[in-house]
Amino acid sequence: MRHSVVLIPGDGIGPEVTEATKHILASAGADFAWIEHQAGIAALEAGSESVLPPETIQAIIKHGVALKGPCTTPIGGGFTSINVALRKTLNLYGAVRPVRSLDGVKTRYDNVDLVIVRENTEGLYAGIENKITEGVITSLKVATYEACHRIAKFAFEYAVSRGRKKVTVFHKANILKLSDGLMLKCARDIHEKEYYGKVEYQEHLIDAACMRLVQDPHLFDVIMCENLYGDMVSDLCAGLVGGLGVTPGANYGDEQAVFEAVHGSAPDIAGQNLANPLALLMSAVMMLRHLAATRDDQDCTAIADRIRNAYNECLLAGEKTKDLGGDLHTDQFAEAMAKRLQG
Ligand code: ATP
Repeated sequence: MRHSVVLIPGDGIGPEVTEATKHILASAGADFAWIEHQAGIAALEAGSESVLPPETIQAIIKHGVALKGPCTTPIGGGFTSINVALRKTLNLYGAVRPVRSLDGVKTRYDNVDLVIVRENTEGLYAGIENKITEGVITSLKVATYEACHRIAKFAFEYAVSRGRKKVTVFHKANILKLSDGLMLKCARDIHEKEYYGKVEYQEHLIDAACMRLVQDPHLFDVIMCENLYGDMVSDLCAGLVGGLGVTPGANYGDEQAVFEAVHGSAPDIAGQNLANPLALLMSAVMMLRHLAATRDDQDCTAIADRIRNAYNECLLAGEKTKDLGGDLHTDQFAEAMAKRLQG
């Protein structure tokens, strides 16, 4: 079955990892009609007046699914994050970031298997800041019952549907008693009323939880967080399995889903053919599984399995990019994958 998928290459390493991912998907026989649109700096460079052009949004609404490269967010000034704006505009409230050990990538721990479920639409990430007077700034953390309830339900549903054993909320409700307190209340309520006996529930203060994570990641299973905590914990967890080059992600709403790697635009290595395309490729594998489930297309499952087997084989054979200790460039890794998928 042919699927129309919106493709947003992004900027920085985005175009490089997107090109590599497209090549690998084509080699695996994925039948996608790519509808290419721009966002962020690339949109401005293409002549758009907006960093988030309406046609990009409309295309995702129309086709339902997008694969997105990273978009740079200026630090300390400039336009607000495109990644955040896109999630808010489309109400992609549930981010899912699986973090798994890979054969062929040696790290401190074996058999890490975590999933971060991040609330994607509010929290401190609402970015509402005010200058009260010279030298005094306030940042507003937003927590609504609707969003807390929705993400808690999403996290438990995700856990149960995938046979996961435990959901742990990371919070700071000893300090942020009302906002993080609301998140906890929603999670407790939903667990008690709908998921008691189906999946275990835990709460941890986020500071102590980060310490436990780096001491023993096997203590956790599904980790649910508000927006900012989810951002930070995702990168921390990525570090447990080989880094940002191997950590995929998906942003789900009720109508649309946008698949993107956890990493940013990595300006330090952009344009050098050094980036690892695996994180975006793994995000594309999540997209294939989403298409299989929502459009009943079992070919997508078979292709997703073949790609996963091929990258496991590549990594075991030492065919990997520099971030993982290998010596392949982005395009060489894509070619190595293509050979395995076609051969
Ligand atoms: P943002 O805040 O924009 O999401 P980030 O904090 O996730 O960005 P990145 O821009 O992703 O930061 O880069 C962090 C570090 O990880 C950089 O040193 C970068 O080179 C490295 N990195 C990120 N993605 C990749 C990749 N796909 N391949 C290799 N290295 C990567």
